[in-house]
Amino acid sequence: MRKVVHDVLIMGSGLAGLRAAVEISMRSRGAANIGIVSKVQIMRSHSVCAEGGTGAVMRPEEGDSLELHAWDTVKGSDFLADQDVVDRFVQASPNEIRLLEHWGVPWSRREDGRIMQRPFGGHSFPRACMAADKTGFFEMQALYDTLLKYTNFKRYDECFVTSLALEGGRVAGLTAYDLGGGEFMLLQAKALLIASGGLGNLYGFTTYSQTVTGDGQAMAYRAGLALEDPEFLQFHPTGLVPSGILMTEGCRGEGGYLRNRDGERFMGKYAPKMMELAPRDIVSRSETTEILEGRGYPGPGGLDYVHLDLTHLGAERINKRLPLIREVCMNFLGIDPITQKIPIRPVAHYSMGGIEADIDGRSKMENLWVAGEAACHSLHGANRLGCNSTAECLVWGGITGGEIARYLQLDPALSAAPEAALREEESRVFGDMLQRSGPENPAKIRRELQVLMDQHAGVYRDGESLQQGLQKVGELKQRFGQITIHDKSRVYNTDLTQALETENMLDLAEALLAAALARKESRGAHSRLDFPKRDDGHFLGHTIVHRTGSAPKIEYKPVRITNWEPVERKY
Ligand SMILES: Cc1cc2nc3c(=O)[nH]c(=O)nc-3n(C[C@H](O)[C@H](O)[C@H](O)COP(=O)(O)OP(=O)(O)OC[C@H]3O[C@@H](n4cnc5c(N)ncnc54)[C@H](O)[C@@H]3O)c2cc1C
Repeated sequence: MRKVVHDVLIMGSGLAGLRAAVEISMRSRGAANIGIVSKVQIMRSHSVCAEGGTGAVMRPEEGDSLELHAWDTVKGSDFLADQDVVDRFVQASPNEIRLLEHWGVPWSRREDGRIMQRPFGGHSFPRACMAADKTGFFEMQALYDTLLKYTNFKRYDECFVTSLALEGGRVAGLTAYDLGGGEFMLLQAKALLIASGGLGNLYGFTTYSQTVTGDGQAMAYRAGLALEDPEFLQFHPTGLVPSGILMTEGCRGEGGYLRNRDGERFMGKYAPKMMELAPRDIVSRSETTEILEGRGYPGPGGLDYVHLDLTHLGAERINKRLPLIREVCMNFLGIDPITQKIPIRPVAHYSMGGIEADIDGRSKMENLWVAGEAACHSLHGANRLGCNSTAECLVWGGITGGEIARYLQLDPALSAAPEAALREEESRVFGDMLQRSGPENPAKIRRELQVLMDQHAGVYRDGESLQQGLQKVGELKQRFGQITIHDKSRVYNTDLTQALETENMLDLAEALLAAALARKESRGAHSRLDFPKRDDGHFLGHTIVHRTGSAPKIEYKPVRITNWEPVERKY
């Protein structure tokens, strides 16, 4: 087993991980020794796919305000966001936009030369700062470029983390499978940041890259930490049929319409004021209702759809502001959005829940922080507003980076390597998992899991179907004990890493379904047909899920309300 030691390890090189690495480097003046671990090449993290924009208040003189951004976020969250967290977020995000400006993001500009902002769902002011529709790509480039000014970090690309190594209630480091070298590794550190992204691949119809499988959440859950609010899974209203590729909310921000098969702009019935720019939970439910009531089009494999119509926007606007959307439509479907309508339907897109963390991004373990989509800082509550996620990654990348730099100044001790646990983990991966020889195919189990989640934990849910989903996950877990991985080699064994991912996904699916079953109300993205109303009396609280030997243990903790008492949510 190869062992390496750093001051701090960052698991994940997306926006959150890179932003934290830059902050730690700046604060320590390049002294802190950082290891950045990523299961893909560092710049292939899903963050490069972010399209539409990053939210921040940049125009107080034109009528926007921090208070308005906070209110939009709290209302969007269906009052499940912690309001002190929201305040901190809206105050910090404008500075992140300015930092990225200095670090080289080519923000789209207005005629007067100032940063352009477009309207986004649920925001009452245009707040999405963008670089055309390739925002994440440019943000990642700028962050990595900035990090390259320092020499204090080492990259571990294509290095698959399998578990948190624990010693005396602290994190001693990470265990990992180095794909290129074919070795098992212990990466030791005094402090750790998990910034390992979301879990969109729990679903079959998703906007997410194949690699987004919730590994960080699953290993924290196995290590005894809680998952918070996992039932709140966001469905984005415009996933391209049949691939699921995201048609950014920027399409509607630029003025795009949603139409049913009668050509009607149906959002007028559901959100007469905000129309297509209502929050995502509401637009996704409206589309699903249109489809269920027969006003959609039949699609391949049951993927019935409605239309996203950009044809009235004109070629110039589409080419300038939505070039990627046009390219994707032409390459994947052979249609040109300048003249043709785009087939879309709700698609699994974002996990509001994650590893429980406090306002500083610190977990319940003293030397472990979490940031980005893997974390739940309770910013988004039951429904995230578009363009608030990349902003969250930047803000909490910065906050956790700062906290970790401060912690390192206290000169904490390096925990000893937990030798027995390490041998056990190595034998779980290279012994048990790789050597199992049963009749089951792990890829088939993964696919069945995705189909099951699409069916049982979609836009609309009910108790009976959630219960059936849980039972099916239980069966898949049993079957997973009987898999065979046919490739037995150690170098670049992607069959092995995909099996490890699937095992993680099974745990997370179980937690999501159990939390959804327990929440007998409808709030934000969690919409129960058998409990159609929000129930503040019983459920104005964050779900906290712990792993046990049997069923997940579910508890609730209060929402922090500082400014706004919950009221009915209308758009
Ligand atoms: C198509 C698309 C478009 C989007 N557009 C927008 C937008 O316009 N605006 C917005 O605000 N939000 C948008 N989002 C959401 C937002 O982009 C993501 O929530 C955010 O980028 C997540 O960043 P992250 O840093 O948390 O993780 P990611 O960027 O997902 O990075 C995760 C990192 O963790 C690493 N990792 C994971 N597991 C392991 C493991 N086992 N071992 C080692 N490394 C591991 C990965 O290699 C990767 O480096 C979009 C999302 C998608 C999918």
